[in-house]
Amino acid sequence: MFGVVPKSIWQKTNPADANNLCSWAMRCLLVEDGSRLILIDNGIGTKQDEKFLSHYHLHGDDSLTTSLNALGFSEADITDMFLSHLHFDHCGGGVKKVGEKLQLTFPNATYWSNEDHWEWATKPNAREKASFLKENILPIQESGHLKFVLEKEGRSSPFDCMEIFYASGHTDKMMIPKIKYKEHTICFMADLLPSTGHIPLPYVMGYDTRPLITLQEKEAFLNEAADQQYVLFLEHDPVNECCTVKRTEKGVRLDRTFPLREILNTGY
Ligand SMILES: [Zn+2]
Repeated sequence: MFGVVPKSIWQKTNPADANNLCSWAMRCLLVEDGSRLILIDNGIGTKQDEKFLSHYHLHGDDSLTTSLNALGFSEADITDMFLSHLHFDHCGGGVKKVGEKLQLTFPNATYWSNEDHWEWATKPNAREKASFLKENILPIQESGHLKFVLEKEGRSSPFDCMEIFYASGHTDKMMIPKIKYKEHTICFMADLLPSTGHIPLPYVMGYDTRPLITLQEKEAFLNEAADQQYVLFLEHDPVNECCTVKRTEKGVRLDRTFPLREILNTGY
């Protein structure tokens, strides 16, 4: 998770267990925009077999269903399933297994990806092949629910509340939503900034396909985030839901961490 950074450094903030595994979250974000109910990413899902899950040790009691129900919604209420990218820990929850059949978890939702990333994910390179699982991806297209964000026509987002930043260091054309909410801009950081531990520039995950591009993208994004006081929503941070960053002499550093509810007026 920290690429070339030595374990003797990162284990101070993210201690590993006897199997060298660390705790991470798969935190999703639900956005209400008028009549639309947009879910951003959906975790690893429940359909993988024991062998697969033995590498990941899922823990904790949260699930998509219980989290949606707690807010008074169900899977059928989701109108838009926005996928930052198609690695299994971001899109696995979008397709479920009923008996032996694969079905969309959100039967009334449009599933959003982009054309370049879809190409990349469905014809995977050897390095990312284990992250792009057919069973998470192909049923979306077969169901007829897949739509591409029409970046090439200059319309960068299908939603009024959202702009999209494209990052191609982690994988090709990952989409980072920048959501307008009251006076805030909430950025769903996906794997551009998995946790607060990844703020210093060289902390780039070993999974990234183009780490030098990630360095450039992260530096530009974090500088903008510091200047504009963006709220950074952290998908993988085991503890912190959100943070802000600030410029320092050493580069951009953590400013403050806080739960999302601090800026919501809904009381969730
Ligand atoms: Zn991830």
